[in-house]
Amino acid sequence: MHVYIHVPFCARRCSYCDFAIAVRREVPSRRFVEAVLQEWEHWQGHLAWVESPAIDTVYFGGGTPSRLQPGAIADLMAGLLRRRQMTVGAEVTLEANPDDVTPAAAAAWSAAGINRISLGVQSFDPSVLTWMHRTHTAEQVAPAVEAVRSAGISDVSLDLIFGLPAALERDWARDLASAFALAPDHLSLYGLTVEDHTPLGRWTERGEVAPVDEERYAAEFLVAHGELEGHGYEHYEVSNAARPGRRARHNSAYWRRAPFIGIGPSAHSGLGRERRWNVRDWAAYDRASAEGTSLVAGAEELTDEAVALEEVYLALRTSEGLPAGRLPPETVAAWQEAGWSGSDGDGRVRLTPEGWLRLDALVAAAAA
Ligand code: SF4
Repeated sequence: MHVYIHVPFCARRCSYCDFAIAVRREVPSRRFVEAVLQEWEHWQGHLAWVESPAIDTVYFGGGTPSRLQPGAIADLMAGLLRRRQMTVGAEVTLEANPDDVTPAAAAAWSAAGINRISLGVQSFDPSVLTWMHRTHTAEQVAPAVEAVRSAGISDVSLDLIFGLPAALERDWARDLASAFALAPDHLSLYGLTVEDHTPLGRWTERGEVAPVDEERYAAEFLVAHGELEGHGYEHYEVSNAARPGRRARHNSAYWRRAPFIGIGPSAHSGLGRERRWNVRDWAAYDRASAEGTSLVAGAEELTDEAVALEEVYLALRTSEGLPAGRLPPETVAAWQEAGWSGSDGDGRVRLTPEGWLRLDALVAAAAA
């Protein structure tokens, strides 16, 4: 079983972000712990059928989980463990922003059971960080990594964003080199997307920012792929790469369609065919929790077709690929011919980096 806890609090909204967040100067850590553990209690009756009731991964995502008081992380972990055991060697990840990482905080997270940190770096370029409305500086990243490792948390992942508007003159190769210099165990590389209702969406609508063109986006993705392979990382999923043995087990569970429980505002859960999601806003979640009313905003039962499509989409995201028999032979042949997929002779179709750049279109075509 895999547990995701959505911590919505952020110091301010980044220019590109449309996640479910709550901007707070003072984070209501106590109240958050109470509400989340109350939801965890509600889940227990629903989990009776889950084959393996032990927790294999926990992921504190956000938002900015590192803005919770460190004691709150310990209380959340203790609350989870009151009801379920952890598997031996369970992966417990905390997303953190570099400016929140101090030696004391890292030591407290480690003592609470956190054994993996995903650090939201995004860029090492000061002007890019300012444009993104990030709260940290480039100089804070290396000390943050050092503090985490000194606290005994050896598994460190860095997030970077590529595909920024050309006008920013961001040097992607230099940012990649700065990341490799820190020898992270794992890297997540996300392409910038322009979402409505974000500062970036408004800048774009007003014509103040020109979104990156497809060619530059593709070129940066392919540069990253080459650099990752050259530095000994396995590019094991379209947006993720790891040193051997350091793949993210939590996210890998999503791609395998393993059961996962999402707790907190906006969190999604998937148990077999069942999908459900919580109310999005912290204020609404907090109120429903206090009143004892339902936290669930919606639910659905996936159809056979939806399950099949999800399986194809998720498998093609990964370097494990998809059994070739799941696709029409002419599709497999056409993709190979175009250089979008390859096969190691084991009967599986694996997208190449060029194929990953067309992932949505290929899946749509395969489903048609
Ligand atoms: S820190 Fe993360 S979740 Fe918070 S506003 Fe920035 S991108 Fe969004």
